Amino acid sequence: MTETTVQPQVEIERPDLQRMEKIVSLCKRRGFVFPTSEIYGGVGSTWDFGPLGVELERNIKEAWWKDIVHRRPDVVGLDSAILMATDVWRASGHLQHFIDPLVECKRCHHRFRADEIGDKCPDCGGELTEARQFNTMFKTFIGPVEEEAAVAYLRPETAQGIFVNFKLVQQTMRMKLPFGIAQIGKAFRNEITTGNFLFRVREFEQMELEYFVYPGTDEAWHARWIEERQRWYLKYGLRPENLRLYPHPKEKLSHYSKATTDIMYRFPFGWGELEGIANRTDFDLRQHSQYSGKDLSYYDEETKEHIIPYVIEPSAGVGRIFLALIADAYDEEPDKSGVRIVLRLHPALAPVKAAVFPLLRNDERLVTLAREVFESLLDEFVVQYDETGAIGRRYRRQDEIGTPFCITIDHQSLEDRTVTVRERDSMAQERVPINELVAYIGPRVRFPK
Ligand code: ATP
Repeated sequence: MTETTVQPQVEIERPDLQRMEKIVSLCKRRGFVFPTSEIYGGVGSTWDFGPLGVELERNIKEAWWKDIVHRRPDVVGLDSAILMATDVWRASGHLQHFIDPLVECKRCHHRFRADEIGDKCPDCGGELTEARQFNTMFKTFIGPVEEEAAVAYLRPETAQGIFVNFKLVQQTMRMKLPFGIAQIGKAFRNEITTGNFLFRVREFEQMELEYFVYPGTDEAWHARWIEERQRWYLKYGLRPENLRLYPHPKEKLSHYSKATTDIMYRFPFGWGELEGIANRTDFDLRQHSQYSGKDLSYYDEETKEHIIPYVIEPSAGVGRIFLALIADAYDEEPDKSGVRIVLRLHPALAPVKAAVFPLLRNDERLVTLAREVFESLLDEFVVQYDETGAIGRRYRRQDEIGTPFCITIDHQSLEDRTVTVRERDSMAQERVPINELVAYIGPRVRFPK
């Protein structure tokens, strides 16, 4: 949660801004990320995911959902509404605490978070106003009348949707402690200082798990989830030297937290939080019980006692993971024609799994067979067909978007129905029968265990 107390989010350590520029440029050039409403001049720090971006984004979410929900019998999913009762935010503390100290430059009128800058405007050196408290929740109105009673907020985190549904989920699914409820969805924060591409935006997607445990077992579960989540990032290929943990000092914890550890990533612009893992105690369930007057306790059949579970919350942002994956995967290596740009994404996350090429575009028999192979794969994987330019150029195009396999149909294919499969990282080529392509590619692009 963005609170006055939280650590500086980005610690600059030899920032590589040139690398960052290359990544942003690749994202736009190759259809990963576009500036929102660009034809109208854009909206500051808001981005749209293009055709390849949306595939990578979906894969990230699917990888998370698979590991957090489908592979765990102790976790179920939820998709709660973005607009919630305003009392939710009273009970959760967001109306009182979700505030940043805001200062404005008296000369250029740019606004900043007071805890992120010194006593002069970083843009023009001008004098700053006194800090005032600014609630970062987006306000709107439900219904036609814009009056105080109709005020609603866009949720700043998905977590509260889980807490208010705690009892319903627990009872309908007959969940026994310890168990979790997971949710992926949009969250909105009217951040004062945005920037660093997808890192700090006002509209983003969160992947949150609320894992409910017996009080007293919370610290052990907190440690377990920190380890589990670290392993997840390593499994999907982030380099260990680019990951580290940041345990929040006690005095800097959010109002609901007993302990929080962030998983930090070394972005090209510096270290920044990828995911926060908090021990939220029984704070939220207690608050909602009190404010709603509804009993949100858990009845333990063995001890015949009503208890308020503690909760451990791993909370990650899809956009930050997206950016970390691309930054980590982006590689340049010299080759005959200059530089080969390769996005070494984990094959399960790569937006396109395979590309199909006829060796020559003006040989009808090659083109017909290539289209046949392409169409036979459409049902299984995200595939592309490309017949323009020299084969080398076509390989480079796919390398740049991280496609793990390129399939070329050549003259031998017409005789023996085999094709060349070229692997992105090793550039090794193998002859594979057409009718074995699915069995060849399938296990290589599967979500890892
Ligand atoms: P920060 O300290 O960077 O502001 P936070 O501590 O406020 O983040 P949390 O409330 O812990 O963030 O949110 C959980 C996750 O949601 C973060 O780890 C991050 O991945 C994502 N997230 C939070 N705010 C933003 C934002 N403005 N833009 C993009 N992602 C965000």
